[in-house]
Amino acid sequence: MHICADLHCHSTASDGELTPAALVSLAAEAGLHTLALTDHDTVAGIDEAVQAAGRVGLHLIPGIELSARFEPGTLHILGYFSAPPRDLEPALAHIQEGRTQRLPRIIQCLQDLGFELTEEEVLREADGAQLGRPHVARVLLAKGYVRSFDEAFSLYLAKGRPAFVEKDRLNAFEALDLIHEHGGLSVLAHPFTLDLEPEALNDFVADLSDHGLGGIETYYSEHTRAQRKRYKALARHHDLVLTGGSDFHTPGRHRLGASGLDPALLARLHTALTTPPPLAAEA
Ligand code: AMP
Ligand code: ZN
Ligand code: FE
Ligand code: FE
Repeated sequence: MHICADLHCHSTASDGELTPAALVSLAAEAGLHTLALTDHDTVAGIDEAVQAAGRVGLHLIPGIELSARFEPGTLHILGYFSAPPRDLEPALAHIQEGRTQRLPRIIQCLQDLGFELTEEEVLREADGAQLGRPHVARVLLAKGYVRSFDEAFSLYLAKGRPAFVEKDRLNAFEALDLIHEHGGLSVLAHPFTLDLEPEALNDFVADLSDHGLGGIETYYSEHTRAQRKRYKALARHHDLVLTGGSDFHTPGRHRLGASGLDPALLARLHTALTTPPPLAAEA
């Protein structure tokens, strides 16, 4: 059975194209019942989203998507909160600084490749928003150095490409701790990006679960049926909540709403968010 919910979305507070309020409006128009705002490494958009959701009668779950250090692939951990986490943003300040400090190094790599672009141009493109590789990609595109946004990544900015610069990140356990310390439920995002074989994934999820992981993002557009099945089995084994979302960034490119989430799963998420963890788990 289908329910209209989306538990993974980005706004202009990170690298999404819509403001938090515009995202909420779109979700309401699309008939969604529940929306979680999960910007990269920031909760700066939450208050605006909560207010907008109040106006249109949408249920908004405050969230975040933390990037964590990981090899071989990419590790993102989602955090969901029962109320806007008040003192989380200051704890993220050094992560934001890491983004700013990384920029000159990316620019240097690109200049070494013969491109003419400056930090100022990228900062102007970001226009005060959270700085990221997408802003660099847009400048490369605007200057005609690449034919598309995606090409900027596949040729230069993606992991393993010549202008990729690692940013300062939390490790997996630090990311979980940060979410748990602020009363959140942690969820392993799009597990396929970890690039782990099934057995290694089992071990990794077991480690995370021992460290309080609360859920696993199972319904995600890029997951194959086989992956979904595997993640469901993992969730059952480790007693994790299943979640899903569109990873919405851009209208036209992404569609709001996660297919596969059924009301029982959503109810379980709500229970997990509103029930404090047992005391034993806090020790
Ligand atoms: P950053 O926050 O600087 O690490 O940039 C991450 C963002 O860049 C992601 O949220 C995507 O929007 C975008 N991105 C990352 N990898 C790719 C890729 N291979 N193709 C297109 N966009 C990408
Ligand atoms: Zn993003
Ligand atoms: Fe992600
Ligand atoms: Fe995301």
